[in-house]
Amino acid sequence: MAVMIEEELAPHVRRCVELATEALEAGDQPFGSVLVNAEGVAVAEDRNRIADGDSTRHPEFALARWAAENLPPDERRTATVVTSGEHCPMCSAAHAWVGLGRIVYVHSSAQLAGWLTEWGVPLPPVRTLSINEVAPDVPTSGPVEELVSTMRELHRRCFAPGE
Ligand SMILES: [Zn+2]
Repeated sequence: MAVMIEEELAPHVRRCVELATEALEAGDQPFGSVLVNAEGVAVAEDRNRIADGDSTRHPEFALARWAAENLPPDERRTATVVTSGEHCPMCSAAHAWVGLGRIVYVHSSAQLAGWLTEWGVPLPPVRTLSINEVAPDVPTSGPVEELVSTMRELHRRCFAPGE
C-alpha cells in the first residue's frame, strides 16, 4: 500500500532519489540509500556501485555493514534506512542480521520486477521477494507514490534506454 511519508523523512527520501540519479550517471544502477538515526539525522549514505563487477555492492548492504561497525545495537534498532528501491533478499538479510530498524522505500521490488518484465529485460538472478518475506520483523513503509514515476524513469534509462 502506498504511504504518505512523514515530513521529517521527506528530505532523506529525496536524497535517495538524488543518490540513485548519481549512480545512474556514474554507470551504476539507480539505487541510493540513507541511514537516519533516531533524531532524524542522516549518519551515512551510499549508492549502488556494481559497475566495477562486484554485484553485491548495493547501498543497503553497505549501510548494514557500516551500522555494524559504527553503531551500538540500541542505535541500530532505532535507526531508519530510507532507500530508493525496496531491499533485495541479500540486503534484507543483512539489515536484519545487524539489527537495524525500520525501512522506508520509494518503489517496491515487485514494481521493479514488473517494469523489467514490461521492458523485456531479464529478471535478476536472485528471486524477487519483499523485505518481510526475508525479514518478517522489520517495519517497512512504501511505496512513496509521488516519487515512483521518477524512479521508474531512472530504471528505464538504465535497463531499457531504447524504450
Ligand atoms: Zn540488495
